[in-house]
Amino acid sequence: RLPFEVVETALDAMPEPPTKIMMNLGTPDQAFALSHLPNRGVGLARLEFIINRQVGVHPRALLERDLLPAALQQQVDEHWQAYPSPREFFISRVAEGVATIAAAFAPEPVIVRLSDFKSNEYANLVGGDRYEPREENPMLGYRGASRYVSEDFAEAFALECAAMKRVRDDMGLTNLELMVPFVRTVGELEAVIQVLADNGLKRGENGLRIIMMCEIPSNAISAAAFLEHVDGFSIGSNDLTQLTLGVDRDSALVAGSFDERDPAVLTLLGMAIDACQAAGKYIGICGQGPSDHPDLAEWLVDRGIGSMSLNPDTVVETWLRLANR
Ligand code: PEP
Ligand code: MG
Repeated sequence: RLPFEVVETALDAMPEPPTKIMMNLGTPDQAFALSHLPNRGVGLARLEFIINRQVGVHPRALLERDLLPAALQQQVDEHWQAYPSPREFFISRVAEGVATIAAAFAPEPVIVRLSDFKSNEYANLVGGDRYEPREENPMLGYRGASRYVSEDFAEAFALECAAMKRVRDDMGLTNLELMVPFVRTVGELEAVIQVLADNGLKRGENGLRIIMMCEIPSNAISAAAFLEHVDGFSIGSNDLTQLTLGVDRDSALVAGSFDERDPAVLTLLGMAIDACQAAGKYIGICGQGPSDHPDLAEWLVDRGIGSMSLNPDTVVETWLRLANR
C-alpha cells in the first residue's frame, strides 16, 4: 500500500472534471475513509439509512414509549437507556451520524436527504409494525414529503429537524445542506418549507440551503414553479425512471425495461436542467444513472449538469473519464 501522503498528493494533482463530482454515502462509519477519494462533497446521504443504523427504533415508538405494552416498552428501552430520554436518544444519535459525515467532508457541501422511508421499510424498525399502515403500493404511498406534512408524523419529523438543527447551529457544521425527497405537488412543497421553518430550519438562515429531489415527472414538468421555493434540484433518476416508464424498480421481471437513457427520461432530465439554469439554481443528479452508465454521465455533462453524485466505487473512474475527455 502507498503511504497516505503519496495518495493524497496524487489525488490533488488529478485534472478537474467539467462538472462537480460528489459522492453518495450510505452510513457514517465509512465517511472519513471515503472522504479521501477525490470529491466535491456528498450529494446524497439518505437519512433513513442513518436512522436505521444509529437509532433502529421507530420514532413514534420512542415518542410514545410510555403508552406501549410492557414487552415492546422493554425492547425500546434497551436502545435508549444510556441517554436522558428516548427523544434525546434519537436526536443525539442522528446528529452524531450526520455530523460525522459533515465533518469528514467539510468544507465541501454535504447534502442530507430527509427521511424517505416507505411504510414497509419503516415497519422493520423496532415498534414500526404498530405505527405503519399496510399499503398495497408503498413505493407510491406514504413516503417522502407527504409524511412531513401529515399530523400523524409531525412529531417524528420534528425529531429529524431537531437533529439537523443541532448539527448546523450547535455543532457549527454549516456545510450541511438539506434535501426534500418525493414531493408530489407545489402545494406540498410550500407546506414542507413552512414545517421546516416552524422547526427552526428556515431556508437562507445561517446559510441554510434547501433543495429538493427531482424524481417525480411532475417535478420536471412544473420545474419552474417548484424552484420558486427551493435552492435547486437534485435529480433522482431511480424514481424518475420508474415513474416515467412505469417500471417497478424493484421487480426483476421488468428490469429489462428500466433504462435511465430512454428518450422520455432524457427529455425530463433536460427539462429539469434547463429550468434550474433559467432560474440560476443548483442542478445535480444523485440517482444511480451516471454511476451505472458512463455514456449517461457524459450526456449529462454535455447537457450542463452542475454536479453528479456517484457511488464511491465509480468516483475515480468517472472523474478520470470526464476530466480526460
Ligand atoms: C432516486 O430515486 O434516484 C434516489 C436517489 O432516491 P432513492 O433511490 O433513495 O429513492
Ligand atoms: Mg428516490
